[in-house]
Amino acid sequence: MGTETQQWKVGTVTITSVVEEESWGIPPQFFFPAAGAAGVQRHDWVVPDFADASGNVALRIQALVVETAGRRVLVDPCVGNGKPRSFPFWNEQSWPFMDRFTAAGFDPVDIDVVVHTHLHADHVGWDTRLEAGRWVPTFTGARHLYTQREVDALRGPGGSPDDDAVYADSVAPIFDAGLADIVSEDADLGGGLRLEASTGHTPGHVSVWIESGEDVGLITGDFIHHPVQCAEPGWAEIGDADVDEARVTRKRMLARAAETGALVIGTHFPNRPAGRVVVDGAGAWRFEAAT
Ligand SMILES: [Zn+2]
Ligand SMILES: [Zn+2]
Repeated sequence: MGTETQQWKVGTVTITSVVEEESWGIPPQFFFPAAGAAGVQRHDWVVPDFADASGNVALRIQALVVETAGRRVLVDPCVGNGKPRSFPFWNEQSWPFMDRFTAAGFDPVDIDVVVHTHLHADHVGWDTRLEAGRWVPTFTGARHLYTQREVDALRGPGGSPDDDAVYADSVAPIFDAGLADIVSEDADLGGGLRLEASTGHTPGHVSVWIESGEDVGLITGDFIHHPVQCAEPGWAEIGDADVDEARVTRKRMLARAAETGALVIGTHFPNRPAGRVVVDGAGAWRFEAAT
């Protein structure tokens, strides 16, 4: 389940999910070292949309197209095809993502802006495609937005094992083509879109707020990976660069999401990734998927 195109509204803004991959039956400790199947099973509301009855979780990789004020803004274009990656599930892939993107009614040349919540391999992949042995931009009419701290982290020591490859095949070609802009971590992108720094998972991570009339939406990026972290915000994810900062950020963003009643779209949430974060005890929340 979970690869069909889905669409939501926040006021007059339309958000469309184009799915690259959704994986089920993942032992939770694979991504959340403090978790186990029993820990997931304590939160029975995660079944069946986000986990199975045996406590294994599901995760999705998706890009979101936000249509607002006559512009199409693409958030986090997934892993991509044909890219050498150390993570076997992402290595040299051949997903039908662009077919799904086209079937959803989009043309790569019509994307005006590409937003990256951060520069992990699963958030920049479709920015480039291989043409005659060279990585060239896919969204040739788009400004591609980056935060300075995120670019610095990608280029600096530490980080993920694929950082150099990601820079070479997915980021440098965009800068070389003159399609890149460095923006502040609280940039107002217009059309009701606004960035907020949500650091910890990576040093320059941002999330995207959507405001339209009275309605509010939030695209998380990777400050949270799975709905069960609403109930277990202390569970770190294996990719969190600064575990303590990521925990503080996760709690702050979840509290804010609950206060605002935002339609939260979890970037890696499976199956029904849009919904509301509601308070469920002290320092804990639950995720109620939108129908
Ligand atoms: Zn990440
Ligand atoms: Zn990710």
